[in-house]
Amino acid sequence: MVIVVGSGAGGATVARELALAGIPVTVIEKGPSIEPKNAFHQYEPSEDGMDLLKTACVGGSTVVSAGNGVRVLEDELKSMGVNISSELDEVEDELQVGVLPDTHFGKGTKLLMEAAESLDIPVSKMPKFIRVDECKPCGKCSLGCPKDAKWSSRDYMKEAQQAGAELYSNCRVTELLVKDGQLKGVKLVHSADADNPDFETFLESETVVLASGAVETPRLLQKAGIEAGKNFFMDTFITVGGILNKIKFNKEVQMNALIKMDNFILAPHFSSFLAQELEERGAKDKDILGLMVKIADEPSGRVEQDGIIQTNTLQDVRYLAEGAAVAGSILSAAGVKPDTIVSTHPRGAHPGGTAAVGDIVDENLETTIKGLYVADASVLPVPPGAPPILTILALAKRLARHIIQKKSD
Ligand SMILES: Cc1cc2nc3c(=O)[nH]c(=O)nc-3n(C[C@H](O)[C@H](O)[C@H](O)COP(=O)(O)OP(=O)(O)OC[C@H]3O[C@@H](n4cnc5c(N)ncnc54)[C@H](O)[C@@H]3O)c2cc1C
Repeated sequence: MVIVVGSGAGGATVARELALAGIPVTVIEKGPSIEPKNAFHQYEPSEDGMDLLKTACVGGSTVVSAGNGVRVLEDELKSMGVNISSELDEVEDELQVGVLPDTHFGKGTKLLMEAAESLDIPVSKMPKFIRVDECKPCGKCSLGCPKDAKWSSRDYMKEAQQAGAELYSNCRVTELLVKDGQLKGVKLVHSADADNPDFETFLESETVVLASGAVETPRLLQKAGIEAGKNFFMDTFITVGGILNKIKFNKEVQMNALIKMDNFILAPHFSSFLAQELEERGAKDKDILGLMVKIADEPSGRVEQDGIIQTNTLQDVRYLAEGAAVAGSILSAAGVKPDTIVSTHPRGAHPGGTAAVGDIVDENLETTIKGLYVADASVLPVPPGAPPILTILALAKRLARHIIQKKSD
């Protein structure tokens, strides 16, 4: 039996592939199983001194994703001996990644795209994994889709369970069981009894796949004596926006367009922080037009047992400032009053890098402990500065195939 820790992007994918191949698999997920529309309740509190967005529930952070499907780090991984091109093709096919029809582009997004074009800034439609027939644009992707119209790892998890995978939700893995360098299984506890070792139980296996995300995975590895946790990044972003009365952009499909520049990307994005900032000017959510500025931040952070050390480097600040300047020009050209343009504080939603390929795991995503693998954003070698889900899925599929091959040897 294979134990998979976490049911997000990486975990659900490994579980599905293994279950479909007839391999017994048990997934242990810290969070509950929820209706997608309630996902916003599952955001975890951020670590001190930073604003990092992630959710704990069956499906992990994919349940609150914007549905953006972009191939990232394909060449970087290939140069490290990890070729995921065919898995990426497969993932794009299964998630039916594609741009949305005109019916799903709102007025605000169209204005921003036209404004970028008028400034000779190349803009394209964002590839999405949203089921068009089920999607009624409402702007709530990142709160949890009210119509369940967006692919999430819940979909893969359901298929895994139909194929025989076991899912223990509301259960947290607290430690790996390693004796004399040999992997024996995991310790786990019901989430309600978290931190009370008296309630811990054990699950035995010589094959464990860690997919608990780039913050929790390194913590479990550290407890097993592996020096994971350095090289942390989160694709830092800000949202820059201002007032365009009654634009109702907050109800549109978010991040439906993409502007790629050398040092950052931009995508149409509403943030309620902007409305709060502009409240004194009489602005409500419906009056805000915004653009997200996202950078590949330098991987200078570190995950420790009791916190994350992360600072914005001089380069990060420079790239965010460059992005904010371009965003301001586009917003102004789209009709936003320039003297109302403000920015949110920096945030992150793509934690990664803390058990990187070539450092903590090898090209088969195995650690120095035999049978202990990692299949989440921790293994990304460098910050993508763009949506990583497709790449995590492809890496997890490739890992599942490796395990299937090993089991059949
Ligand atoms: C608001 C938001 C929007 C986003 N939009 C996009 C997008 O449009 N496109 C895109 O590509 N990316 C997007 N992302 C990023 C993407 O969701 C993440 O990069 C991706 O989900 C990370 O996958 P993962 O497998 O590393 O972790 P996750 O998907 O977060 O899964 C980790 C799982 O492990 C569980 N877990 C943690 N610790 C334990 C433990 N000890 N025991 C058991 N279970 C545990 C967690 O509860 C969680 O379910 C977005 C993220 C956010 C927050």
